[in-house]
Amino acid sequence: MIRLLNYLITRKIATSKALFAPLGDGVRGLPMLTGESISEAEAVELAEGCPAGAIRVLEKEDGRQVLEMDRGACTTCGFCLDVYPTAAIKSDPNTMIATRKRDQLISSVALNDTSLDTASGVAGDTACKTASGVKTDTAGGVHEFFEAADNLPQDAIESDLARENLISKIFGRSIAIRVVSTGCSSCDLEIGAAGNPIFDMERFGMHVVASPRFADVLLVTGPVPKAMHEPLRLCYEAMSEPRLVVAVGSCAISGGVLKDSYAQANGVGAVLPVDVFIPGCPPHPWSIIDGIAMAMGRKRQGRLK
Ligand code: SF4
Repeated sequence: MIRLLNYLITRKIATSKALFAPLGDGVRGLPMLTGESISEAEAVELAEGCPAGAIRVLEKEDGRQVLEMDRGACTTCGFCLDVYPTAAIKSDPNTMIATRKRDQLISSVALNDTSLDTASGVAGDTACKTASGVKTDTAGGVHEFFEAADNLPQDAIESDLARENLISKIFGRSIAIRVVSTGCSSCDLEIGAAGNPIFDMERFGMHVVASPRFADVLLVTGPVPKAMHEPLRLCYEAMSEPRLVVAVGSCAISGGVLKDSYAQANGVGAVLPVDVFIPGCPPHPWSIIDGIAMAMGRKRQGRLK
């Protein structure tokens, strides 16, 4: 706090000029696989210690055993990073970690093998974002209006770039956001922080509105327990087309630690089609802005356009 006040007094401006700055030293980011090999004993220990079930040891169809990591389920507890560190996993300082598809958050590495499992299409964050294909969207997040864009040839609609151009054309450089919280509210605090003078998401045309009637984007936090299924559907139906859904945080993506519990809290994807996934527990304000920019079609090769 003292450092922040000192910064404000000396610089006289709070708003960060460095967009999407990586996390500083000593700040724990989401874990990511490094590509280093890992023994079966180590992998089993990690899988048993992960409280969120984000690390698993699986056997592939070809008989290979792999360690699989689901960044969409990770609660950043630190077990695999700090308590049981291994060369196979490191903290990811990147804040641009949103993805369009759920399976882009899942990566795996073969046990006792130095090559990453390319079948999953994921080898850390950069490669995550190159895996694409609108028709393979496992969350069913491709909305009717994209497919109804009859002014584009079918093969163009299927490319991510054309899809982003289309979204960008529809929404322009400004978007209205309705936030629905169904969880512990730590993600809500970070959404609030994304609007403070330091991150200032309003400067990117991202405006939070009070009613779904005015909203283009539904930003959902929390694991979406059964009691929130119907209210969330009603909120979505109150929005006019075209409308987008963004899942913020591990709970909204996968249900987090409540996944498959009696509360039937398995994330937004169990109730609505999701267009963008922002992992983290909670995500950094830059990651939230990154995900909304992705939903707006304003992301181009890691930069805002
Ligand atoms: S940091 Fe994430 S992946 Fe690692 S043990 Fe904790 S919940 Fe599991």
